[in-house]
Amino acid sequence: MNEPLLTLKGIDFSYHSLTGEIPALKSITFQVKNGEFLALVGPSGCGKSTLLNIIAKLSEPENGTISFQNPDGSIHYPRIGYMLQHDHLFEWRSVYRNIILGLEIQKKLTSKNKEHVDQLLKDYGLYAFRHKKPSELSGGMRQRAALIRTLSLDPEILLLDEPFSALDYQTRLTVSADICHIIRQSGKTAILITHDLSEAISIADRVLVLSARPASVKAEVNIHLTLADDSPLAARKAPEFGAYFNQLWEELSNEKTKKLNFLHKNPFC
Ligand code: ADP
Ligand code: MG
Repeated sequence: MNEPLLTLKGIDFSYHSLTGEIPALKSITFQVKNGEFLALVGPSGCGKSTLLNIIAKLSEPENGTISFQNPDGSIHYPRIGYMLQHDHLFEWRSVYRNIILGLEIQKKLTSKNKEHVDQLLKDYGLYAFRHKKPSELSGGMRQRAALIRTLSLDPEILLLDEPFSALDYQTRLTVSADICHIIRQSGKTAILITHDLSEAISIADRVLVLSARPASVKAEVNIHLTLADDSPLAARKAPEFGAYFNQLWEELSNEKTKKLNFLHKNPFC
């Protein structure tokens, strides 16, 4: 996991509207290693989703570069999987037909890929539910189905934009542990946006704290936890957990105070 897969250097981005320019990202520079699980935290509205959109090539940065160095030495842009807060499963399609939708659209519904989907459904406990409608699944199963849909396209990097925030707290604990276990098993590189510091600490290898808008990288914390078992709660009970939480909380609180001061001085911004 030592090779950098993704390198961002000096990324700037602003939105332009009739009322003016909204700078969203300022000199963002960081690397993500192959197989690493990186979490991004930052005040709401600071530019986190904008950053993922740029990595996914949905927006172009104004300045800066994004480069990839794949494990085989090639520098092709990797296949990206994007998971959002809402699972966007279509109710008129069965779970299975939702999962194969991306393969259908990309005309990649080969027998090999169908076998891969069947294997993912079996591995992650949804095979018996493949003919159900999304509304017949629990919130956690729906997120798992959305993840299988993403994994079926064999992405090299997974971008996860607050994928658990629509779930209630208890479900969220188990589903986040479950989904992250699946991603780790698959060996994929992942970037997760979350506003939940406990989630970031319990899931990620490294956490980047972004500043208030325009976002820049304010702090970087490598996470090493001593885990008693592999339960969803184990990370939160690790002896190092509290110190990481306090460190991240402090970094983030400074940014939130700055944002509130700014809004106080610029109430119409
Ligand atoms: P986050 O994901 O950190 O909450 P976003 O990346 O969604 O923040 O947005 C960053 C900032 O850019 C926000 O303050 C938001 O108001 C602004 N913004 C986002 N999308 C647009 C847009 N399409 N047009 C103008 N401003 C936008
Ligand atoms: Mg966002």
